[in-house]
Amino acid sequence: MSEYEAVIGLEVHAQLLTHTKIFCGCSTAFGKEPNTQVCPVCLGLPGALPVLNRAAVELAARASLALSATVQPVSVFARKNYFYADLPKGYQISQFDRPLALAGHLAIPSGDGQKTVRIQRLHMEEDAGKNIHDRGDTSIVDLNRAGVPLIEIVTEPDLASAEEAGAYLRALREILVFVGVNDGNLEEGSFRCDANVSIKKKGDPELGTRVELKNINSFKFVEKAIKSEIARQELLLSDGGKVIRETRGWDDVKESTFTLRNKEAAEDYRYFPDPDLPELTLGVRDIETIRNTLPELPKDKRARFARELSLTPAAAEVLTSHPRLAAFFEETAMLTSDGLRAANFIQSEVLRDAEFHGTVATFPVTPSQVAGLLALSESGQISGKQAKEVYAKLRGTTLDPKAVVAELGMSQLTDPAAVLALCEEAVQANAKQADAYRAGKTSLFGFFVGDVMKRSKGRANPGVVNEMLKRLLGAS
Ligand code: ADP
Ligand code: MG
Ligand code: ZN
Repeated sequence: MSEYEAVIGLEVHAQLLTHTKIFCGCSTAFGKEPNTQVCPVCLGLPGALPVLNRAAVELAARASLALSATVQPVSVFARKNYFYADLPKGYQISQFDRPLALAGHLAIPSGDGQKTVRIQRLHMEEDAGKNIHDRGDTSIVDLNRAGVPLIEIVTEPDLASAEEAGAYLRALREILVFVGVNDGNLEEGSFRCDANVSIKKKGDPELGTRVELKNINSFKFVEKAIKSEIARQELLLSDGGKVIRETRGWDDVKESTFTLRNKEAAEDYRYFPDPDLPELTLGVRDIETIRNTLPELPKDKRARFARELSLTPAAAEVLTSHPRLAAFFEETAMLTSDGLRAANFIQSEVLRDAEFHGTVATFPVTPSQVAGLLALSESGQISGKQAKEVYAKLRGTTLDPKAVVAELGMSQLTDPAAVLALCEEAVQANAKQADAYRAGKTSLFGFFVGDVMKRSKGRANPGVVNEMLKRLLGAS
């Protein structure tokens, strides 16, 4: 057991799902030719003036409310001054001492229970450009991303392990995607995380010196990087060394963190209010209007699915993992009499072919096709096994399950008179076995069921067969 404990605080940058940039009308579409989505404002040409995008403010406020943070009536845009090739203005417009929202929280799973992570602040800022080095002999600066709206969400140092950090990031991404603020796409960089990591002697009230881990673009790597950084710091301190305040990156080949640069302090940025932008004011009415458009949050949905539809916590978790999936399930459940059955079928069949990309999802079938199919199997017209075959035919089509069942000639035999006739045939053809059964050899029951199924070419409804056979074999 280590004598140290880890303290972690996370800063997440999430791109807001606006069509245009935060201070100009340029498109935010991803993956376009470099420098085709730029104008004097986002290029930082002298004299060009920023105009705040209202949609970005609404989305940022939405995120704040979803995280139970308090949206401030007045917030202020500030210039964060630094020099880098991807920042032509020489400053990034961000918010500093007066951020958009303060004091939120988010519950995450931890161990067997839950833990509440406090969110210190949520502020708005613009993204920088991107240096591209893989174009032959030259490097270029692509400013398509410059001015794309971001929110930065900063936690208190409340996380105690790499696993908790991972759980927080997953929960945060889920909630942002759910409320339609962010597409949660780590590979395209629209959800990015910096992790601040320190250690201290167990029980020590004072926090240790922290290291900031930057630009790690997958949940798996974040967890690995934090683990390895904690181990590095433990080794340092137990050897009598000191942790220095710095920014480190993650080398996935060496599986270790490495120094990127010494950490700048806030003073180095010489923040000051941007004179080109007025204070951002949001009235109680504005905030309530935004609150009213918030959809049901994932944790509430999970609780409701468990309560109203008797889903297990695990099933509720899966079916609320994406807003489109939750909607697909709810629509199906509404069209069927048995929500649990719908949940099982969607998890075991539909999910295998569903595709998710950001906030978009594509499903191989529609909720009404699933509901129609489940109705056929519930009424005994087709067996569970046949339902899967029908499903395979429905995938990617708009066909009606009933039509497919008819076409495949697979409707189950449920008509009592027809099933009875088959059972009578089976009993007559196997008189010896019937006598043995009646004399007490009840293990022969399955033999009769099998014989009836053969005679019906697998179409007889097993429930009806059982009932009829019991009647015939018992009554002598
Ligand atoms: P900066 O201005 O350098 O970004 P902040 O005070 O804004 O620093 O804190 C950034 C993040 O670092 C927050 O998530 C905070 O919880 C976390 N943090 C602060 N001190 C520590 C510490 N000693 N160990 C781990 N995380 C810390
Ligand atoms: Mg910071
Ligand atoms: Zn522009």
